[in-house]
Amino acid sequence: MPGPELAHVAPDSTERRYTNTLVPRPTYRIALRLGEIDDLFSEPPDTELGRMARLQVLGLFYFPLRHAMAAERAKTCWEWVRSKIVPQQEGETGDFLRNALRARVVGEANAPFESLGSFRSGLPEAAENPDCPGEKNFARIRLPGGFTYLNSSSIKVNEDLNYPLEFGADLFDAESRFYADNPVLGKLPLVAKVLRRSGQGEGWVPAEGVHVYFRLVKPYPLSPAYDRTTATQGIDASIAKEEATHIVQEDADPQTGNCHADRGGKRGAPLASSGDHPRVGLFKIVPTPGFNEPHPSRPLVRKTWFPCAESVADPRKHPDAVTAETNGEGEAGVIFMPSQMGGDRFRIRAFIGPPTTESDGADAAAVRAETGTLVVWRNVRISRFLRKEPAQSVLPDLIKEAEEFGYGADEDYLLRLALMNASYEWQGLPEISRDEIVRRFACAFCELEFDGGKLVPEVVEKEEYASAYRQAIDDATEGAVALGTEWEPDQLLLPPSEAVQGESIVHLPMHSPAAYNARVGAETTAALRLDPDTGELPQDEKEALDVLIDNYMFAGLLRGLSKNGSLPGLTLLQGAGCCTWDVLQLRGTVALGQSKAFRGCGLWFGKQTYANPGPAGYFWDLTGCAVHEIGHCLFREHAPGSDPPRKGAAGARTEEHDPLSKKGGGNVCVMAYKHSPGFFCSRCTLALRGWDVKKASPTSEVPPELPPEVS
Ligand SMILES: [Zn+2]
Ligand SMILES: [Zn+2]
Repeated sequence: MPGPELAHVAPDSTERRYTNTLVPRPTYRIALRLGEIDDLFSEPPDTELGRMARLQVLGLFYFPLRHAMAAERAKTCWEWVRSKIVPQQEGETGDFLRNALRARVVGEANAPFESLGSFRSGLPEAAENPDCPGEKNFARIRLPGGFTYLNSSSIKVNEDLNYPLEFGADLFDAESRFYADNPVLGKLPLVAKVLRRSGQGEGWVPAEGVHVYFRLVKPYPLSPAYDRTTATQGIDASIAKEEATHIVQEDADPQTGNCHADRGGKRGAPLASSGDHPRVGLFKIVPTPGFNEPHPSRPLVRKTWFPCAESVADPRKHPDAVTAETNGEGEAGVIFMPSQMGGDRFRIRAFIGPPTTESDGADAAAVRAETGTLVVWRNVRISRFLRKEPAQSVLPDLIKEAEEFGYGADEDYLLRLALMNASYEWQGLPEISRDEIVRRFACAFCELEFDGGKLVPEVVEKEEYASAYRQAIDDATEGAVALGTEWEPDQLLLPPSEAVQGESIVHLPMHSPAAYNARVGAETTAALRLDPDTGELPQDEKEALDVLIDNYMFAGLLRGLSKNGSLPGLTLLQGAGCCTWDVLQLRGTVALGQSKAFRGCGLWFGKQTYANPGPAGYFWDLTGCAVHEIGHCLFREHAPGSDPPRKGAAGARTEEHDPLSKKGGGNVCVMAYKHSPGFFCSRCTLALRGWDVKKASPTSEVPPELPPEVS
């Protein structure tokens, strides 16, 4: 406990007796920094569990740690990270992970792994003038934001019944499970160092037993690099309305504008937490191993621990604060657990207060240190953008088989896949605009990053493609049995050696139904029941084949390339088409793209399809299509709306999206099959920001009439 000499600021009556001119008044200094995140892990970095826990905190691993498949997927993930993400100069495993934790979890806006060590990291410094902060007065708190559904209804290689992570589940609920399994996720150690000197000319020494307060203070208005980008006026207005819920007195609350506890956030909720889950409380007041006490089994270099933080004695005098005492090194610490909501902002002041001094941190004599503004951003990563580059002519055998469906020549086939325009001029595949897709996700405080730093299509190498394709055949072979048929997918699909050729154009080149029947023997039970007159497939068969193609063949191909979803980021697979039957018009539905459980999606069709987005053409350009499919990967379901006579999207969930007004206005979501500027609606945006949107305003509430959209 501090001695009476600590009566630094003129004390009030109770301590008056200690004020004595014969006792020199010590002066203090305080500095605030981000502590060592690596110390919080219960396992060393070179162990299986230690490595995957760290990868997850870095936003590079997306299986819950106690998931049955976590260890195996993490092994593949780490191989990828080591070969594609770790900068060349980085040494040992532990060094990279520790350095990345120091540099990336709290750091400046543009902080790619590729330039680790050369960007600003840690707590941002306070602005001299809070009304006019500069870039250096901000930092992002970078939390993982690439949580995807993992359970497939068809290929159950990632299933663990303890984790209901299927499409249709809720992102907020799903995310909570990741936090429950990984005790370091979402925790930031803050350390205040206090020095003392007894008089002029004396040296500064660490001050033990000093009471330090950690208090939230009003953040600065965001600078553009830390703020979200805008969507449409209507969407922005709906978001602003949700952000403003329960704001009574704007200036009184340092969390004004942050996600309210009603929507899963921390505004309006108790500040101190005696639990461990970062969903509750901002500052931990129970011990954290590796910070307040040793780990049971992992020895650390550190031998001095931070006394655990406590609630303040008088919350009216010291609102929004907890307090902790300094240790023998003059350091006080607290575990800060910001909300997981993108866009939530925090600023922290550490000051010396009672009983050490009577300061409330705001008075002129206060000994204090402040941070700049910390803003939560959610990191979403794309690991692969693979492309099957189509040749300008098609395998002659496939053309011959396509003849019976009226696609007799190269040109007809290529026209159908939109690789040519109506004048039969070659168009090829469309491009995704990197800047635009980054901007669309930045609307939701999602920081989109790409392995290698660029979004450049990588042509799938033949060997890897053949192996993923073999996976598609194997999965479809099991799928045929699961569907109760005797179909032979290896006879329906072309062999891998032919599929890898550019002339096979689509990702899954298939024989026509008649050619398939000829191969398996038209009289066998493996045959397709073709109508002898029309050549049509019966409806039940058509539906079963849709499942076989989408959920087994395509999902199989995708998991071959995304390594069963082990990769840190999503895998985008682009091609002229998913399968030959898209061209032959034999499918129940032909989609522009498809998302699957293996952390990836396909993006189909040539440039011509996306040439003139609008109510008469397709809904968006390829960038919009990629946003839609990535949205699915991140748990977003279809939205209502359509461009008649075309039908709206199947399985649209009205309650999951902003309402559409009768006049056709409202916030049209990119998750709808309807032309729009290609933004997520406000409800999707808030969900991607991590909000518990189940608790947001009911969607029947139509937003106010607004001037016409300018997009
Ligand atoms: Zn869709
Ligand atoms: Zn939506």
